[in-house]
Amino acid sequence: MEQKRGAIYKEEGIIPHVIFECWENDSNMGHCFTTKLGGVSKGECESLNLGFNRGDDRENVVENYRRVGTLLGTSIEQMVLSRQVHETQIAEVTSNDAGNGIITPNKWESLDGIYTKEKGLTLVTHYADCVPLFFYARKYGMIGMAHAGWRGTVNEIGKKMIDIWHQEHNIPLEDIEVGIGPSIGPCCFEVHTDVADVFLERFGEQPFIVKNTKNDKYNIDLWACNAYSLETIGIKPNQIAKAEMCTCCQSDTFFSHRKTQGKRGTLGAFMYLK
Ligand SMILES: [Zn+2]
Repeated sequence: MEQKRGAIYKEEGIIPHVIFECWENDSNMGHCFTTKLGGVSKGECESLNLGFNRGDDRENVVENYRRVGTLLGTSIEQMVLSRQVHETQIAEVTSNDAGNGIITPNKWESLDGIYTKEKGLTLVTHYADCVPLFFYARKYGMIGMAHAGWRGTVNEIGKKMIDIWHQEHNIPLEDIEVGIGPSIGPCCFEVHTDVADVFLERFGEQPFIVKNTKNDKYNIDLWACNAYSLETIGIKPNQIAKAEMCTCCQSDTFFSHRKTQGKRGTLGAFMYLK
């Protein structure tokens, strides 16, 4: 079965950004993945840094959020930031949570996945090589986002989101679309055997876990691994869009933790119902 079309890089609008082609003209939902370009931050965070914990001035970060808000037609007061700690906690968020982590301190301790049915509420998650997962049930008016680093990927946070939507909200599997956004690609995500063993133990031998013949390391395709995990519970390849953009290879465009050994700003993924 054909995979959905992927993502496109757009330079028009107030800031350069990435969107999924399948949702480009959706009149009920707005979304984007940011780049490092088009913001006001300086130094390591130049220029569209969205992390308050990167040594950047708070007012710069807030201005960067405002620019994303202008691009999407939403506002920072309506944004809800997750609390990403490489675990798999997921929760429904509401207008009571508006501004969390951006206008007000982050009140959560562990929340790598968030979803909502409320119009206007803008979900925000953070990245610098980890995998952004976007979820959308058009017919049911539900959106969600999950942060899948290698730990979130191996612990199948995406599958957990689908399970919650399907079991607790009665959304049929065939009505859920997923976008796998820009992140470190199989080209650059080289790991030692300790990490590879965790993947092998969970998924068995798979084409997305590739032993490097030159050294004792492995390359893992986190995009394919997340897709595989979702497919095991019945999400079809034609429900999954993959950006297939490597943040490490394209470090002129994206912040990459690995490429810069941690000297970097933070990217954001955004999604809201109109
Ligand atoms: Zn790469």
